[in-house]
Amino acid sequence: PARLATAPRLRPDDVFIAVKTTQKNHGPRLGLLLRTWISRARQQTFIFTDGDDPELQLQGGSHVINTNCSAVHTRQALCCKMAVEYDKFIESGRKWFCHVDDDNYVNPEGLLQLLSTFSPSQDVYLGRPSLDHPIEAADRVQGGGTVTTVKFWFATGGAGFCLSRGLALKMSPWASLGSFMSTAERVRLPDDCTVGYIVEGLLGARLLPSPLFHSHLENLQKLPPDAVLQQVTLSYGGPENPRNVVNVAGGFSLQQDPTRFKSVHCLLYPDTDWCPVHKQS
Ligand code: UDP
Ligand code: MN
Repeated sequence: PARLATAPRLRPDDVFIAVKTTQKNHGPRLGLLLRTWISRARQQTFIFTDGDDPELQLQGGSHVINTNCSAVHTRQALCCKMAVEYDKFIESGRKWFCHVDDDNYVNPEGLLQLLSTFSPSQDVYLGRPSLDHPIEAADRVQGGGTVTTVKFWFATGGAGFCLSRGLALKMSPWASLGSFMSTAERVRLPDDCTVGYIVEGLLGARLLPSPLFHSHLENLQKLPPDAVLQQVTLSYGGPENPRNVVNVAGGFSLQQDPTRFKSVHCLLYPDTDWCPVHKQS
């Protein structure tokens, strides 16, 4: 898609950021996000979960959505959530849909800056390719028993990705609730692959790779420290891979801030009340 020469100002609430979470992550993961980047992007952020949590509801209000999808890590359950995210976005009337996981840090200003260089009425699918080659899937065409193969690129869900409204609207025959589930069954692939299948395989649009989105599938220590604050999304390795975090200095030790999200947040927003105070010189 052509980049805009003169970008009309994109407002924060033109963007719909869907955060996928699950009941057991509300405490361990979501609390950190609410205290960091979500606190600076309240109007843009919607939390999609699978259980009622009065305490979370109190903090997030109408921006916490219980999908009633089952709380398991299966293709069906994850696709159910993605379908609800998609439907809520369409209903919202906003210009951009972005999906992230609950182990992603989002730089809201970086995201806005990136999206403002594109037109939401064009076909835009932005993110980090999951593989270095297109995925090949068997497409079980409905009806007769024929199976064809399709090749397409997809953006890894764990790094976050965005879709323009124009493209999202074209996806509706295969993406709105119910249809997304059957589309995913047709290729038997996870939610993020299914998005790529609809965009590239069915609509003939293309993923635009962006190096600004990051998941813990990468070596996050390789990001140069002076580039960390310019990224659109970040992630962390978690208990299985605690050393896979971004390399960033700041007022918090690795013990105080194992994900590095607090350190990143305080560098981006030093006026936050819980950030270490630096004396003016
Ligand atoms: N998740 C979910 N339901 C589950 C397990 C995980 O919705 O039963 C969500 C989780 O909240 C996160 C995403 O799926 O946003 C990816 O989960 P995780 O980071 O644990 O696994 P990964 O696929 O990154 O290894
Ligand atoms: Mn993850």
